[in-house]
Amino acid sequence: MSALEVVQIPTRDDNYVYLLREPGQGLVGVVDPSDAAPVIAELDLRGWTLTHILNTHHHGDHTGGNLELKAKYGCTVVGARVDSDRIPGIDVEVGDGESYQFGDAIAQVYETPGHTSGHIAFWFADGEALFCGDTLFALGCGRVFEGTFDEMWASLVKLRDLPDAAKVYCAHEYTQTNARFAVTIERGNQALVDRAAEIDALRAANKRTVPSLLGEEKATNPFLRADVASVAQAVGLPGAGAAKVFAEVRTRKDNG
Ligand code: ZN
Ligand code: FE
Repeated sequence: MSALEVVQIPTRDDNYVYLLREPGQGLVGVVDPSDAAPVIAELDLRGWTLTHILNTHHHGDHTGGNLELKAKYGCTVVGARVDSDRIPGIDVEVGDGESYQFGDAIAQVYETPGHTSGHIAFWFADGEALFCGDTLFALGCGRVFEGTFDEMWASLVKLRDLPDAAKVYCAHEYTQTNARFAVTIERGNQALVDRAAEIDALRAANKRTVPSLLGEEKATNPFLRADVASVAQAVGLPGAGAAKVFAEVRTRKDNG
C-alpha cells in the first residue's frame, strides 16, 4: 500500500492543521481544522475534495472550521465518544483501543486525557504518522486543563510506547519556547542541548520544527522523561514516582 500523504497547513499564530490523503480510494481528511478558509484554500490548490474531519479535542483552535467545512463538503466528522457533546458536527464516535478505517488506511485511536478530558490521538501505523493534538508537543506537552497530572503522564506514556520512527504531527509550533524551558531541567543532556541549538537555527530561518520524530522526543523531551533518574534528581525529587516528577516539571513550565 502506498503511504498516506500528509500536508501541513500553518494557521492562526502557531497552529498546524493537517490534510491527509489516502491514496487507495482518494479520501481526504483534515485533522483539527482551526478555521475553514485556509483548509479550503489548500484543498482548492490541490484539486482535492474533503471527505473527513478528524478531531483530537474540542478546543476552538482545533474544531473552529468543523461546521463550515461540513456544510460545504458534507464530510464525516470523527471524534471522541466521551466528548461527543463538545465536538461540533460529530458523526462517528471513537474510543480507546478502537481503530478507524480511513479508506485503505487504519487509524488507531488512543484516549489521552489531561489537556482535556476527552482528548484522543490518531496513529496511522502505515505512514508512521501520529496526530496527537495538544497532548504531546515537540519538546513539550499540553497544559493540564481538565485532567490530572497522573492522567496526563499516563497519556504521554501511552504515546511514548509507539515506535521511534513515528512522526509527531502535533498541533502547535511551540518548540522554541519548549526548548528554552527543557534545557533548564536537563542541563546535562547533550542531545537536548544540541537539539535546542538546531531549533534556534530553524526558527531564525523561519522554518518549521514540526513534525519531529518520537525517538528524538524520547531522548530529549523532559515531559516524556519523568521516569528517568536524572530528571527526578534535577527537579529535587530523587526516587519519587514518575507522575510526581512529571507534575513538578509541568508546574515549573506553567509558572515559568
Ligand atoms: Zn487545546
Ligand atoms: Fe490547541
